[in-house]
Amino acid sequence: KEFLAIIKQESTALDYNRYLKQLVYKKISSDEKIAVFEVSNKYIASWIKSKYKNLIQHCFETIDGTKPEIEIKVAGEKKTKKEIITEKLKNDTAESTILNPSYTFDSFVVGSSNQMAYNASLAVSKKPGIQYNPLFIYGGTGLGKTHLLQAIGNDAITQGKTVIYVTIEQFMNDFTFSIKNKNMEHFRNKYRKCDVLLIDDIQFLSGKEQTQEEFFHTFNELHNAKKQIVMTSDRLPSQIAGLVDRLKSRFEWGLTADIQIPGLETKIAIIEKKSELNGIHLSREIINFIATNLDSSIREIEGVLIRINASASLLNQEINLELVQGLLKEQIKETKENIKLPDIINIVASELNIKPSDIKSKKRTATVANARRVVIYLARELTHNSMPDIAKFLGMKDHSSISHNIKKANELIEKDENFKLIIENLKNKLINKEW
Ligand code: ADP
Ligand code: MG
Repeated sequence: KEFLAIIKQESTALDYNRYLKQLVYKKISSDEKIAVFEVSNKYIASWIKSKYKNLIQHCFETIDGTKPEIEIKVAGEKKTKKEIITEKLKNDTAESTILNPSYTFDSFVVGSSNQMAYNASLAVSKKPGIQYNPLFIYGGTGLGKTHLLQAIGNDAITQGKTVIYVTIEQFMNDFTFSIKNKNMEHFRNKYRKCDVLLIDDIQFLSGKEQTQEEFFHTFNELHNAKKQIVMTSDRLPSQIAGLVDRLKSRFEWGLTADIQIPGLETKIAIIEKKSELNGIHLSREIINFIATNLDSSIREIEGVLIRINASASLLNQEINLELVQGLLKEQIKETKENIKLPDIINIVASELNIKPSDIKSKKRTATVANARRVVIYLARELTHNSMPDIAKFLGMKDHSSISHNIKKANELIEKDENFKLIIENLKNKLINKEW
């Protein structure tokens, strides 16, 4: 109870009433490393985990100094296979349309970095299936793609439309589940009979041939029936490796709109809005400090706001610039200490479809040279390593070529939109440990 009282204080009323208050604390492992909670279904579990895990951990830390891993389980998970199937079929539609009630158009701050995606989303939610079909929203992690996608859903639901929101992974799981259990009819009824189909993170279709085939038919059926399809991705359709051409071209039939990293003014407006929504008062000075020091994703900024609020109220401290500087210093330093050169190599190699060993090799093909440049740039930006350190690690004799590569990378970021997007994505993935 004590715990929930704190969570209630630190979260938005909407989030709390809808999902967080369901949290039931079960136990902490004997070595104090894992704290277990239960909720009623797995979507709520993963939603709480992705949005509030840090806060929950922080509560433990403040209450008794421990910092356990947080595990959120689904209550009474041990069921027979038959029960699981019947229940899944019954709950299916409801589960997949769980939308975050706070992701609305009203709570979305519009600036030049996201104007086009916002306008297109609004247009689509007002007249689903009529204009811009499909709508394809792309951009780096934590920049508001899911927020806009769900805003369309929340809006369309109020107009009485049938909305399905799923990540492409959920779609895929649903599909394999239906094949295994010979229930394709149910699957097809679900996905082909809705008014608005919202698919998040479609880039993960990459290389999944059977799912692509099924999605192709879903797409055609909905499109022919003038039903709205909206997808998000961290890159353009043409940049999704292992996506069949007929899907690539279909994804570009309607409108593709990008979301970029917000400029300073938009960031300030977002911080103002988020702190207002969370009932935190921040001075202009503090808002500017956060906006200028955090630049990669809004999710990161949100995390910081939650931490500021938590620290202030749990430590019974006033929110002043010093407190915020302290919190951010930790964050910036931690990021740099957490990212290691081999991580950078691995993630760059996997994103650019080459072998990690190529980057350290003597190969000079354009692809490898480009990947090496990306690694060098990220190593300088995200770690404490010096240029000679980086040169040594990559097996390069001369560290002047490191500075040359950094200069070149900076030039490319200025003039090559695609290069910039790749860098932003990788940066976000590394910072958020998404690999
Ligand atoms: P993505 O799906 O692109 O990775 P999300 O939509 O999950 O990013 O956004 C991350 C967080 O940042 C969300 O909590 C979202 O509400 C917030 N956010 C992103 N852009 C904006 C914006 N323009 N205005 C308000 N909040 C935003
Ligand atoms: Mg998302």
